[in-house]
Amino acid sequence: MSERESMQYDVVIVGAGPAGLAAAIRLKQLAAEHQHEVSVCVLEKGSEVGAHILSGAVMDPRALNELFPDWQELDAPLNAPVTEDRFLFLTETTAFKVPNAMLPACFRNHGNYVISLGNVCRWLGRQAEALGVEVFPGFAAAEVLYNEEGELSGSVKGVATGDMGIGRDGKPTASHQPGMELHAGYTLFAEGCRGHLGKQLQERYQLRAGADPQVYGIGLKELWEIRPEKHQQGLVIHTAGWPLAGDTYGGSFCYHMEDNLVAIGFVVGLGYSNPYLSPYEEFQRYKTHPAIRTFLEGGKRIAYGARAIAAGGLQSLPKLVFPGGALIGDDAGFLNASRIKGSHAAIKSGMLAAESAFSALKSGRSADELASYPEAFRGSWLHDELHRARNFKPWMSRGLLTGTLMVGVDQVVFGGRAPWTLHHRHADHETLVPKSGARPIDYPRPDGVITFDRLSSVFISNTNHNEDQPCHLTLKDATVPIRVNLERYDAPEQRYCPAGVYEIVRDADGANPRLQINAQNCVHCKTCDIKDPGQNIVWVTPEGGGGPNYPNM
Ligand SMILES: Cc1cc2nc3c(=O)[nH]c(=O)nc-3n(C[C@H](O)[C@H](O)[C@H](O)COP(=O)(O)OP(=O)(O)OC[C@H]3O[C@@H](n4cnc5c(N)ncnc54)[C@H](O)[C@@H]3O)c2cc1C
Ligand code: SF4
Repeated sequence: MSERESMQYDVVIVGAGPAGLAAAIRLKQLAAEHQHEVSVCVLEKGSEVGAHILSGAVMDPRALNELFPDWQELDAPLNAPVTEDRFLFLTETTAFKVPNAMLPACFRNHGNYVISLGNVCRWLGRQAEALGVEVFPGFAAAEVLYNEEGELSGSVKGVATGDMGIGRDGKPTASHQPGMELHAGYTLFAEGCRGHLGKQLQERYQLRAGADPQVYGIGLKELWEIRPEKHQQGLVIHTAGWPLAGDTYGGSFCYHMEDNLVAIGFVVGLGYSNPYLSPYEEFQRYKTHPAIRTFLEGGKRIAYGARAIAAGGLQSLPKLVFPGGALIGDDAGFLNASRIKGSHAAIKSGMLAAESAFSALKSGRSADELASYPEAFRGSWLHDELHRARNFKPWMSRGLLTGTLMVGVDQVVFGGRAPWTLHHRHADHETLVPKSGARPIDYPRPDGVITFDRLSSVFISNTNHNEDQPCHLTLKDATVPIRVNLERYDAPEQRYCPAGVYEIVRDADGANPRLQINAQNCVHCKTCDIKDPGQNIVWVTPEGGGGPNYPNM
């Protein structure tokens, strides 16, 4: 194979989400302020900036105010201020509204905006380019490069993009083009939740030593255009309870955006124990609740997608830095689970890492540890916010009743400053019980009006992968899906994957079960990499540009 070419930058950033773009922008702002040029590039695996972004989203503008105090004049797409908060506890047929006076601060959204995070990222991408950042969509960082010689030995040297034109058999095709090496003084990893390079870095540099296991949720979302008379711009509804069992962590959101659009979504904690649970079907069932269905009737579903959420908070944060780079945004796990908000945290962490990298570069350093970044984080409002939220997820993991009561005590009585810190004891892949001890769940059939099957959903995520490429859902041991997962858990990957990628197929007589992986449908949510009980499924980047093409998620 031909040699890879290389390019040198001061800072390379992997991922054009809010974290990566904010870091790039902050670097260029500082460069202009101090008249000290820095070269910055951002790699993005989606076909364009925003194509792989999926969020709720209600955005707290605090970090954006710091990044661009004049964002309103710059036409940032934050056009729908929150006008009303509703928190509902659902039973199968009824909904109890929590009086607003009793809502903990984390559920209040006054001063926040209902947005499409994809569109905010497209806007951030344009701001970054205007400041001189080189943004390369359609290029996945597939490999971390390390310095191997001299003083810098063992530090991160940059990343390499994946080769294009490798066939399904692993051999170069006629259209083969080798990847590029991007070398940098510092490389910032902003891949979002469960970044696949971030995961490798955490292992190599033992960044998780002393931290709780990271815990996750899967978030499923649809965008609906609803009837104008049902629409109330700025209305924010959250629910807990039905259809999830009391011992399963999760809940829903329903955000009224501009132009009669409603973002409706459901989050299920991936620490669930019943292998028969299907987050996708729970979401579909949730939409049939009378309090929710009323908004959707007469409307049209226009987009679908799913993405994992890092919910462990402060206790689960790894060490943020290693020689030559840092983790920012959800690649580290800065999301505040009590508010289901991570976009402001992603922007803030990106800015803090950028400030640290800039001062290092200005003083002539490179490829060492950016110790001032975690220090600045510890002194920031973001640390204070995550500290106050730290017990939310551990309490909620103890069931809806205990969780609600204790979150009330923690947040309302102590204002998040209780004299205790609870811990996450188990990683999500450890929590499934064997099928013999689990209750199968009978989900209703989709009606094609309010509820839909997976394939028609994947269709409107506009997901596309070149079919002649190696499967990006790799198995460490090809016998495990049948020998262990099917035997012991009745193949839970068939149910937790929100895109129907995993199927157990059999011969006509029902014999010879085998796992079929429909990799072309993968929406890059990363749930299989998190929940597979034996950690046998490893998600790696497919060819750049492949994956969902979300319009405004
Ligand atoms: C269903 C759901 C609802 C949410 N609701 C809210 C909300 O209401 N408010 C809120 O503030 N937050 C919300 N969040 C959380 C918020 O979306 C995240 O915290 C935020 O997007 C994290 O930003 P990030 O930049 O770290 O990562 P991401 O936004 O995930 O961006 C990462 C980017 O990196 C790219 N990338 C990844 N790997 C590579 C690679 N190897 N090479 C090149 N590119 C790569 C991805 O394609 C992506 O574009 C929600 C999340 C979900 C899933
Ligand atoms: S294959 Fe994995 S990453 Fe892809 S959609 Fe399914 S669960 Fe998500």
